Amino acid sequence: MADFDISRDDGLKNVLSKTHAGAKCRLCNGALSTTFLDLGMSPLCESTLSADQIDQMEPYFPLRVLVCDNCFLVQLREYVKPENIFSEYIYFSSYSTSWVEHARRYCEMIQRRLALGRHSQVFEVASNDGYLLQHFVRMGIPATGIEPAVNVAAVAREKNIETIVEFFGVNLARRLTSEGKRADLIAGNNILAQVPDLNDFVGGMAILLGPDGVITLEFPHLERLIDGNQFDTIYHEHFSYFSFVTIDRLAKRHALRVFDVEHLPTHGGSLRAYLCHSSASHAQSPSVDALLLHERQKGFEDIRIYATFSAQVHQTKRRLLSFLIGLKDKGARLCGYGAPGKGNTLLNYCGIGVDFLDFTVDRNPHKHGLYTPGMHIPIRPVSAIDDARPDYLLILPWNLKKEIIEQMRYVSEWGCKFIVAIPEIEVIDPREP
Ligand SMILES: [Zn+2]
Repeated sequence: MADFDISRDDGLKNVLSKTHAGAKCRLCNGALSTTFLDLGMSPLCESTLSADQIDQMEPYFPLRVLVCDNCFLVQLREYVKPENIFSEYIYFSSYSTSWVEHARRYCEMIQRRLALGRHSQVFEVASNDGYLLQHFVRMGIPATGIEPAVNVAAVAREKNIETIVEFFGVNLARRLTSEGKRADLIAGNNILAQVPDLNDFVGGMAILLGPDGVITLEFPHLERLIDGNQFDTIYHEHFSYFSFVTIDRLAKRHALRVFDVEHLPTHGGSLRAYLCHSSASHAQSPSVDALLLHERQKGFEDIRIYATFSAQVHQTKRRLLSFLIGLKDKGARLCGYGAPGKGNTLLNYCGIGVDFLDFTVDRNPHKHGLYTPGMHIPIRPVSAIDDARPDYLLILPWNLKKEIIEQMRYVSEWGCKFIVAIPEIEVIDPREP
């Protein structure tokens, strides 16, 4: 459990960031004035609560997303310092089977593509519990993780994965290079969104990167967020939401070149961008220019398209609530499945508490016995579903719905069905082929 008690007065002073007014763009330093989406006030998504905490005052922060009129980076102001979010973290990547499998396939692919071997140096920023680097270690490729969350890093070290417990940036990169380190590969998977100082972070990567080294960045694609109505992937811990045009601008700012890009199904639709030094010899894939052109044609460099998202989200809230109220009026019993950060944005924005969901379950034992922030829904082990035999399971991590339905198919024995709320309401009966 996070030892991050922001309900105490002194804690609250600590987490309120100075950038409350007159916010500047995280990428280009331009003034921010255009709202992309306002989800109202919300507690921090990862701050699950213990039984005694739910009886106390709980801090809420604005969940208002802005977009830069100059470089089009979609972003939240930094209401909360990352030191307060990530120094102890209860998300362990290894609890998701499909995510570990995704990491394994990536490692095998990139090992072949870059011909990595015993003399290579691989770094992963935000290496979590070693879910990814363990594959390099098994292949005999020297790998170092950088992970600021002490408890998560400790798990990686137990797996014999060298892990530096620190935030990554220019300072750490300079120290590593002064020790003779030069990266052949730097992997950054689903970390870019969580970086408050983007230029310090990518600047650090450029310093650590060897002359012909490669950076791969995986991040949820803004186009998919908008088209897939994935507003619930917005939360305070995610400061930035990237289109490919913004990634290209970010790379150029640090004399880096995006030389390839791939679409991935992870997290509702992500991109994997390959970066190298501008002067490096990596061949330029036509997919880069094609995607830049595609985004420009769709209007990602026109501020007007960013104003249309709000109405879609408001409609989703109304429809979901109408649907759930209809089920409850008929006497249906509902439980949640999963307690991910994104679940909490959905629950808090829509106001779905124990009046709709009796409880939710999660495979991560670190969350059992705790309560979701804001809505205070109890989090129980998955086996609680077998005892309660609900009529519906609302799947909160919709990006894992296939995996979850596969694992939970047996609930159809008592007629239970699954509900997915994003991109639109879908009821799935596991008995139907
Ligand atoms: Zn900007």
